[in-house]
Amino acid sequence: EIRVRFAPSPTGYLHLGGLRTALYNYLFARSNGGKFILRIEDTDQTRLVTKAAERLESILKWAEINADESPIVGGSVGPYVQSQRIDIYQDHVDKLLENGTAYKCFCTEMRLNLLKKDLQRRGETMKYDNRCRHLSSDKIMKLEATLTPYCIRFKLEDIQEPFQDLVYGPILNNIAEQEGDPIILKTDGYPTYHFANVVDDHLMGISHVLRGVEWQVSTPKHLLLYKAFGWDPPKFGHLPLIKNSDGTKLSKRQGDLHVETLKSKGYSAKSVLNFVTNIGGGFDDKEHNLLHSIEELVEKFNLGRINPNSCKLEMEKLLQFSQMDLLQQLENPVKMNILVKKLQVLLQDTYGEKLASNVIREEVLSPENIKKILLWSRNRICKVEDLLTEEFSYIWVVPQDLSLDKLAAMPFSPVNVLSSLIDKVSSIPDDDFSAEVISRNVRAVGKNNGLKVPAIMSLVRRSVSGLKQGPPVGEMLEILGKESSIERLKHARS
Ligand code: GLU
Repeated sequence: EIRVRFAPSPTGYLHLGGLRTALYNYLFARSNGGKFILRIEDTDQTRLVTKAAERLESILKWAEINADESPIVGGSVGPYVQSQRIDIYQDHVDKLLENGTAYKCFCTEMRLNLLKKDLQRRGETMKYDNRCRHLSSDKIMKLEATLTPYCIRFKLEDIQEPFQDLVYGPILNNIAEQEGDPIILKTDGYPTYHFANVVDDHLMGISHVLRGVEWQVSTPKHLLLYKAFGWDPPKFGHLPLIKNSDGTKLSKRQGDLHVETLKSKGYSAKSVLNFVTNIGGGFDDKEHNLLHSIEELVEKFNLGRINPNSCKLEMEKLLQFSQMDLLQQLENPVKMNILVKKLQVLLQDTYGEKLASNVIREEVLSPENIKKILLWSRNRICKVEDLLTEEFSYIWVVPQDLSLDKLAAMPFSPVNVLSSLIDKVSSIPDDDFSAEVISRNVRAVGKNNGLKVPAIMSLVRRSVSGLKQGPPVGEMLEILGKESSIERLKHARS
């Protein structure tokens, strides 16, 4: 049976790298009829962030990466939170002490510091010298009798054989050459990551471990632990490093890389997931740059297609997927209605006061009008939220600085021109109020007043929107509607 897990340490928000690990585990499980498990690795109590576990589950739920077993869902091999499994680790440490693959280490912090300094002086990095491996049982008994604190270390063995990484192929890393025996149980009785991770993966029946490549160096250590217990290890596959578009290392502090931030900016789960798979690979070339539902991602996922080279994060791609998603939603009447409602709520939130004081005309927020504006703006925005930016505010509210003082800088008297514009625009039949017809009429007014096309267009644009640059004037008036356009022209003239 295929069982995989996502095992985050709750140290803050979920970032894109974490989301990728979760997603690929999920896709692998679903595409093989297996199970996806969420386990919280919170044994490092110093790095705990309150509520982080809850936040994690809720953001995964938003992304539709639903766990079959988790702290909230439960399951037969729980608890799924490591801090609730301390007894289990202590029992398992005893097994290794009994079979002689682990030992008590009484070295004090002071001794370890001296060792470190000594090594540093010789230009070497800290490596525990395994001194307590060789303590006599007499000595151990004496130390225990005086209640000397100790931790438990694991005896690292030499490794001659590579392990098969599902993504990277054979990897040989004789960890014993580089590190001293690692601590598996700390003085305070808490396990270290390596130990708890291996014990849980075994007890939870994990068949495949898919995780970030930063853990690849630890895999030989984990395999030695499996061997010490006499357990069959799972298969291991590591996911390449994600880098910034300039090739530098991703920093978790960059807010934009938090899934929560993207969510709050209005990106859909679908666009974020496609963004992640677009960077991470795992699909045939022909799927590249297409927008897939999570079901399609499951169907098409192929672990063998993951590229071991590190991949770069191009934020531009997220915008593209977001727009593709928006366009698809606008074509679906049900989804279109949901978007209309969403935008109505967002507008109420943003412009509520102005609405109450009638600065915004009620018709602006009517479903028909919002629908019209969504369809018009679809190639200019990536998500509904973009319509709330400054760039589009003229659509919703009459710009405040429309007075002729501003327009006075024009090299002609705008009042007369505005008057003829008002007449001309009023004369366009309601059912003919399209960008093309409007534009033709505006040009005519310009011509009659001896104005070049850019000059008359600029006058109209500034009069109705306060903008120096923006969409074509015909389109602008069309989306504002005839009544509102005339009202704004009059307002500008007054
Ligand atoms: N708790 C580790 C992390 O935060 C899990 C690593 C693993 O998947 O083994 O990434």
